[in-house]
Amino acid sequence: MAAQKIPATLIPGDGIGPEVTAATLEVLDALGAPFEWDTQQAGMAGVKQCGDPLPPETLASIRKTRLALKGPLATPVGGGYRSSNVRLREEFQLYANLRPARTLVPGGRYEDIDLVLVRENLEGLYVGFEHYVPIGDDPRAVAMASGINTRAGCTRICEFAFDYAVKHGRKKVTLVHKANVLKALTGLFLEAGKVVAKKYEGRIACDDRIIDACAMQLVMNPYQFDVIVTTNLFGDILSDEIAGLVGGLGMAPAANIGVDAAIFEAVHGSAPDITGKGVANPLAVMLSAALMLDHVGMRDKATRMRTAIDKALRDDKVRTGDLGGKATTKEFTAAIVKRLG
Ligand code: NAD
Repeated sequence: MAAQKIPATLIPGDGIGPEVTAATLEVLDALGAPFEWDTQQAGMAGVKQCGDPLPPETLASIRKTRLALKGPLATPVGGGYRSSNVRLREEFQLYANLRPARTLVPGGRYEDIDLVLVRENLEGLYVGFEHYVPIGDDPRAVAMASGINTRAGCTRICEFAFDYAVKHGRKKVTLVHKANVLKALTGLFLEAGKVVAKKYEGRIACDDRIIDACAMQLVMNPYQFDVIVTTNLFGDILSDEIAGLVGGLGMAPAANIGVDAAIFEAVHGSAPDITGKGVANPLAVMLSAALMLDHVGMRDKATRMRTAIDKALRDDKVRTGDLGGKATTKEFTAAIVKRLG
């Protein structure tokens, strides 16, 4: 009997987006992943097609499917429109940003890294409550920003992290904060995290770190960490740091998970410099699709995809230019499909 179809929204995105998402669909097809795609536009492609970087049809599609795979979206620097990525996060209350970092290509600075960072995506210092205070003839003499953390938001993200740890056979969750200085803002996060940890006692270990110490320890001995959960700003910084431990942002996948929807995307941008050349590395979007398979409960297919990717990279040594190889996007994709048998 054919597997039940899972409706999902596909946003190919801008620049290399259509190339890397097409490659990912090829691999998903080879896996027999039962997604039924509703293709929609956003970013510059949305502007071109219907004059809107986040067209109502795209929002309506995600509202219906509650599941999306998204290529990178170009955002004009300075003026222009607001980032569609940020709007999507707000629109669907995508409170959890999940950023795994795993060694894919051996021979880097560290071998066998396998870390997961869970970042709160909606609160903290990124709520954007900022203003200037004028003094004398200087209209910007003082700059002020307020951060907002709620007990409900802190509890929700910590529960997400512990729950993820249980579901994925992880051993430990580290709460990362700055409660020694930002006693209220991040003290509340630590307090809420410890309450959540109690509920998982005996199943998942828990410790905590101050953000600056954590940043250093990640470089000195990343193996002491397993799942890290933290607030918005710290998570933004640490997620790039852990991507750096495994060779940079180029292959980093991400999931944005909320109450109303889940959106999976590569961390990298639209790479205008290599668009249309057929040389883009499709791994980040493919690994995001693997997170999507995990999310819909198809862990076996996700594992098959990751294993095929590992074999193509390590055993067949097929790699795109950014990884020091010569393979085109198509050749690399074909190598993974071949490994899927
Ligand atoms: P970028 O990630 O697009 O490119 C940085 C460098 O990495 C470039 O040299 C590029 O060629 C290379 N690169 C990126 N992805 C690659 C891949 N898959 N394979 C091989 N090489 C790759 O970052 P940027 O140049 O700062 O941004 C370009 C555009 O993308 C901007 O409009 C920016 O706003 C947007 N952007 C979108 C997202 C998103 O949608 N999530 C994220 C970051 C940037």
